[in-house]
Amino acid sequence: NEIPIGSPIRTQAIINRYFMRAKKNLGQNFLVDMAALQGIVKAAAIQPGDQVIEIGPGIGSLTEQLLIAGAKVFAYEVDENLKEILHNELPAKVNGQPLDQLFKLKMKDILKADFTEDLAGFFDLAKPIKVVANLPYYITTPIIFFLNNSSLQFSNLTLMMQKEVAERLSAHAGTKDYGPLTIAVQAEMSVKSFLTVKSSSFIPRPKVDSSVVVLKPLPEESKIKIANPAHFNWVVKMCFAQRRKTLNNNLKTLLPDSTKRLRLISSLGVDERVRPEQLTLKQFVEIARNVPVKK
Ligand code: SAM
Repeated sequence: NEIPIGSPIRTQAIINRYFMRAKKNLGQNFLVDMAALQGIVKAAAIQPGDQVIEIGPGIGSLTEQLLIAGAKVFAYEVDENLKEILHNELPAKVNGQPLDQLFKLKMKDILKADFTEDLAGFFDLAKPIKVVANLPYYITTPIIFFLNNSSLQFSNLTLMMQKEVAERLSAHAGTKDYGPLTIAVQAEMSVKSFLTVKSSSFIPRPKVDSSVVVLKPLPEESKIKIANPAHFNWVVKMCFAQRRKTLNNNLKTLLPDSTKRLRLISSLGVDERVRPEQLTLKQFVEIARNVPVKK
């Protein structure tokens, strides 16, 4: 088979051959845009020998490109029907090597993955691992938090997601997209947006456009220390409870004493009419330090 899986003709042929119906509840939108697929591989900076976890390989369009670029791929998928399709449609040999040495499929919900156990014997866990995925959009943020909280050392996460979420992840302070999600993620990882992909590049076509984002864990020394992340994220959420109101207003429930509140705001070096979206990560860390931990 010379035509790549991710070309529209080949994807349509696979869909017809297996009488497939894309499962909406599993976020199945298959990417049929070779430029976008190659853009993802490039954004992930795939090198021969890279160890890649793929989430939701679908019918294998991205998997195939990752393998051709020289990656070893461990994929998590939940749709049982795709098992047979992937084994039939992926090339039997890639770059002269048999597929089973380069590709392993695990039928499991990514949010239940136990990486150390699942990957043992296939990946060298002492070496860095990349994650590359055209995500199932209904669980984009749970997946990001799950990966971030896992014990694996990731060199980068290259994730295609709905454009709106990508904009929130990469937002700068002072913009409308900046909010609790931005802050929770940017506290842990650097975020860089790559290509935008039109909804017409998928079968079936989703309602929204997509973007590819590369997340890189920040080195320990450049991370702002957050003593209690759960408390921190809760305080940030409360500060944004009413986005259009001032920080002072939003802080009322957390710090009922107005003198304390105004003293804290002034210690941040900002005007008392400041709005939550104007504050930096560092200033939120300072606020969280001054709010009692919820019991
Ligand atoms: N990688 C393919 C592509 O680019 O065309 C398919 C991407 S499609 C947007 C998302 C894939 O994730 C589907 O194949 C779906 O079955 C799978 N999926 C959905 N929920 C999942 C979960 N919890 N864990 C692993 N895979 C999941």
